[in-house]
Amino acid sequence: MKRTKVGILGATGAVGQRFVQLLEGHPWFEVTELAASERSAGKSYAEAVEGRWKLSADIPDYARELRVKKCEPGLDCELVFGALDSSVAGAIESEFAEEGYFVVSNSRNHRFDEDVPLMSAEVNPGHLELLKRQKTKGKIVTNSNCTIMGVTIALKALMDAFGLQEAMLFSMQAISGAGYPGVPSLDILGNIVPFISGEEEKTETEPLKILGKLAEKGIENAGFRISAHCNRVPVYNGHTVCVSVKLEKKASVEEFKRALAEFRGEPQGLKLPSAPEKPIVLREEPDRPQARLDLMAGKGMVTTVGRIREDPLMDFKFVTLSHNTIRGAAGAAILNAELIKAKELI
Ligand code: NAP
Repeated sequence: MKRTKVGILGATGAVGQRFVQLLEGHPWFEVTELAASERSAGKSYAEAVEGRWKLSADIPDYARELRVKKCEPGLDCELVFGALDSSVAGAIESEFAEEGYFVVSNSRNHRFDEDVPLMSAEVNPGHLELLKRQKTKGKIVTNSNCTIMGVTIALKALMDAFGLQEAMLFSMQAISGAGYPGVPSLDILGNIVPFISGEEEKTETEPLKILGKLAEKGIENAGFRISAHCNRVPVYNGHTVCVSVKLEKKASVEEFKRALAEFRGEPQGLKLPSAPEKPIVLREEPDRPQARLDLMAGKGMVTTVGRIREDPLMDFKFVTLSHNTIRGAAGAAILNAELIKAKELI
C-alpha cells in the first residue's frame, strides 16, 4: 500500500511529540511536515523541542532535522493530525479543511459541529457517514477528550449488552493531560486539585455524542445520563476513572465481565496497524488497574478495567485506566486515520 503523506500541527507539544514518536516507521503514513507556532517555526524539530522533549525514548531520527513550519496550508501532505492548543485549533483546522486537507484533530473546537464525527474507532465507525455532509474540499474528524476515551469503550460494551440508564464517573487525571509545562509543581506535588476547567462538562456530554445514533440532523445523543467529578492527581501519565453504572437490563457479575472482555470493534476485525488485539483488558487482582503497572498494556492502546463489583446504589462499579496521550490522544487519532484509510476515504 502506498504510504499517505501526513503532517502534524502542534508537533512540539505533549500530544505532538507523541504523534512524532508513534508515527516512526508507520506502515501506512509517512510524516513529511511538522508545524507549530511562530516560536518554533524555522527551527529544526530537534532545536524546537530542545529542553522540552518529554518522552522517555529519544527524538526519532526521521524528525530531528525536519524544518518546523507555521500552521498554514501549503504543507506537502494529504492529511494533518491536529495537536494544537484549543485557543488556535478551531480556525487553523477549518482553514486546512477548506484547502482540501483531511484533518484528524485532538482539540475540542469542532467536536460538537453537527457534521463532524466525534470518533472512537472501536465505538462509532458508522459516524464517518457524517463526512459526506461536510461541504469543504477537505474533511474534519475529531477525537474525544482524553478522560473519556477509555471509559467510553467500556460504556459501549455495556450499552450494547445491557443498555445504560445512568453513569457516575470520578476521574483521577494525570498531569501530562494539561500539556507542557502544565500544572505548576507547587500546586500538584503531594496534593489533589478537585477542579479542571471545562473537564466535567466535556466528560458529561462527549460520550453521549460518541454513543449516539446517526440522525437526519447530525447525531442523536445516547439517552442515558452521566454525572462526573474530575480531579488532577500527581501521576505523570494515565487517567484513572472510577465508574458506577445503572443498567437497563439485569446482569450477573459474570455476564458483566464477559460483555467487557469479549468486546471487539471494527479496528480489530480489520487488523488496523495500531489496533490492540483486545480493546478492553480485565484485571482480576483486587488492587488493579494501577497507572504505574498497567499503563502500557497493548502499547498504551488498551483500556484496562478492574475492581468489577456490585454497587449498592447503582448496579455495578469498576475502575478504568487508559493512557491519556496515547489512547486518549495521538494513538486514538492515528487509529481513526487508519480506519479512514482502510475505508478508502482518503
Ligand atoms: P501543549 O503541550 O501545550 O502543545 C500545544 C501545541 O500548540 C504546541 O505545539 C504549540 O507550539 C502549538 N501552538 C500554540 N499556540 C499556537 C499558535 N498560535 N499557532 C500555532 N501553533 C500553536 O498541548 P497538548 O497537551 O499537546 O494538547 C494539544 C491539544 O490536544 C489540546 O487541544 C488539548 O486539549 C488536546 N489533548 C491533550 C491531551 C493530553 O493528554 N495532553 C489529550 C487529549 C487531547 P509551540 O511549541 O511552538 O508553542
